[in-house]
Parts: sequence; structure tokens; C-alpha cells
Amino acid sequence: MLWGMRKRCPSCGQSHIFHTYLKQADSCDICDAQFGEIRTDDIAPYFTILIVGHIIAPLLFYVETTYAPPVWIHSAIWPVLTVILSLWFLPRVKGTAIAIMWHLGLRGDEKH
Ligand SMILES: [Zn+2]
Repeated sequence: MLWGMRKRCPSCGQSHIFHTYLKQADSCDICDAQFGEIRTDDIAPYFTILIVGHIIAPLLFYVETTYAPPVWIHSAIWPVLTVILSLWFLPRVKGTAIAIMWHLGLRGDEKH
């Protein structure tokens, strides 16, 4: 799971799990672990929104209640910070989801 968070192979932690920003490699270059067909679907954006929302919202309320800056400062800070944090968290959350699914033997196309 920690290797997935660091965007590393869930088996050996040596090679990168993604070959582009969010497109995972088919397998590990080092240990040949297969994770290319694991589909995480919406779970990465879902948890990214959850995490970033729980960072931004308290910060926003803290800054507002402590400093009460003008609205234009809020408008300048929070959307930019939200985008930056989302882009930073998204591949890490997806890497974590891939690692968990790989360890559980799930591929994301299971039928109920
Ligand atoms: Zn590996």
C-alpha cells in the first residue's frame, strides 16, 4: 500500500507503476507483477475529492475566521490550491488503489 502511494510496484516497490501521469504500466519491469489490467474506475477521484475536501475546507474556515481576508484573496487561493492538491493526490490515490486490489487479487471487472 505504501509502495502504491509512492507510485511504485505493489510487489517489489522498485519500478514505477505508471508510465504516464495516470496510465499504469502492464507489468513491473523488475518482478513482472501483472497490474496493467486492474481497473480502479472512480475510486481514485472519489478518494482524492474526499481527501482534498478535508484539507481545503478546514483551511478555508480557519483563514476566514482568523484573518477574514477579502473575497478576492479567497478566490485567488482556494481554486488554485484545490487543483494543485488534486493533481498531486490523484496518482498517489490511484497507485494505492491498484496496490490494494493487486494484493486482494481483484481486477475491477468482477461480477456480483
Ligand atoms: Zn515489481
